[in-house]
Amino acid sequence: MTDPADAVRPTVAALETIVSLAKRRGFVFPSSEIYGGINAVWDYGPLGVELKNNVKRAWWRAMVQERDDIVGLDAGILMAPQVWVTSGHVGSFADPLVECLACHQRFRLDELPGAENLTQTELADPTIVERLGLRHAEDGGVLTPPRRFNLMFKTFMGPLEDEAAVVYLRPETAQGIYVNFRNVRETSRKKVPFGIAQVGKAFRNEISPGNFVFRMREFEQMEMQYFVRPVEGARLAFEEWLPRRRAWYEQYGVAAERLRFREHAPDELAHYAKKAVDIEYRFPFGWKELEGVHNRGDFDLSRHAAATGENLEYFDPATEEHFIPWVVETSAGADRAAFTFLLDAYREEEVRGERRVVLAFHPELAPYKVAVLPLLKKRPEIVELCHRLVDDLRRDTMAVYDDTASIGKLYRRQDEIGTPWCVTIDVDSLEDGAATVRDRDTMTQERLPIEGIRRAILDRLAAARG
Ligand code: ATP
Repeated sequence: MTDPADAVRPTVAALETIVSLAKRRGFVFPSSEIYGGINAVWDYGPLGVELKNNVKRAWWRAMVQERDDIVGLDAGILMAPQVWVTSGHVGSFADPLVECLACHQRFRLDELPGAENLTQTELADPTIVERLGLRHAEDGGVLTPPRRFNLMFKTFMGPLEDEAAVVYLRPETAQGIYVNFRNVRETSRKKVPFGIAQVGKAFRNEISPGNFVFRMREFEQMEMQYFVRPVEGARLAFEEWLPRRRAWYEQYGVAAERLRFREHAPDELAHYAKKAVDIEYRFPFGWKELEGVHNRGDFDLSRHAAATGENLEYFDPATEEHFIPWVVETSAGADRAAFTFLLDAYREEEVRGERRVVLAFHPELAPYKVAVLPLLKKRPEIVELCHRLVDDLRRDTMAVYDDTASIGKLYRRQDEIGTPWCVTIDVDSLEDGAATVRDRDTMTQERLPIEGIRRAILDRLAAARG
């Protein structure tokens, strides 16, 4: 069967192309590189931090700023360890691990060829590896029966490194929201349905990390928990949030054909979920989860209420009912989202016999919104005018000045990092007070009065935001 995602032009670049561009231009570096690196941790460089901040800002805008019914939170990474017992993570947040007896490499069983579609029951079956005759594809080594490997990182709090001092690095941001449910509701005086949103680091000791920033051991989540009336309220909220979250990726430029929904089979559901649908993206390594929308029922709040003896019920003044709200969660990864926007924006074009690489980022996501370039850097009046303009632009947005190459090269450089507009100041500018504004995507050039350029760029940004 042909995949409609493959018909979309331009096609998604190979993973190596993106990894190499990311390194070369300062988006993403391997962590601790001068020490030989550390597996599955990546550092964001000068352009990457801008991109990721813009992704998080765009998410916050859609999920908090523009909504009357959602408020934000920033909870700690370290929480009372009992939280993770109650949430089920200590008992159930585990993946099936198998080890090759020849080379001692470890794998997640459900990622091995031939085991991708196994049910949870099959994945836990100690005879499964033998029954299916699974071997390590590379060296033919015998694989051990699966054992459950807990993904939580542990550390110690305080001066004693004993069992009683163990705390966990949170594997999801959601629990910080549940334990603050009452605090937030009381102080914000929100009525059900309402949501709490949070962006922050999460840590998972993944068995087989990889594919660049797709699966890391330290990453960032953008999660929103929407508290609703039981059962029907959750069903309705789920139906609303699922398409809305997919539309957010499309709004910021991801090709619709490279997005799809995939519902989890009942046996695949996480321990807390009543229903789960993934928004998947067609990565160069296949269709993979980009974001999950989950109906968590009253699992978390009920369990926390039972474990603490605290009353986490909501009183509905309209119906005079007390109930524990149900939760519909939208759970996205900031790194996976930034990676997706980067992949989907990548274009290679032929322009007048030359290869042009462009990151066609949505202007809101672009690290720099505008570059100011002198046509002749030998003329101090031109350079001075450039500096005045770039300083003016910097009061409102990310702007950059560059004079370290010829104008053609400078344009290509900005194209390759996705800067939507370049402003060039030339000799004529000294006479007519105007400059050339070049558009990244169409490469059209337009002459505008220098004093109106800041306004023009801001208007274009606002128009792109919609
Ligand atoms: P998987 O089954 O692929 O391990 P998951 O279903 O456990 O993932 P969730 O718990 O639903 O993932 O996490 C929500 C979101 O957090 C994911 O959609 C993804 O964007 C992000 N995410 C999860 N794990 C990682 C990771 N190791 N690296 C980067 N992002 C991650």
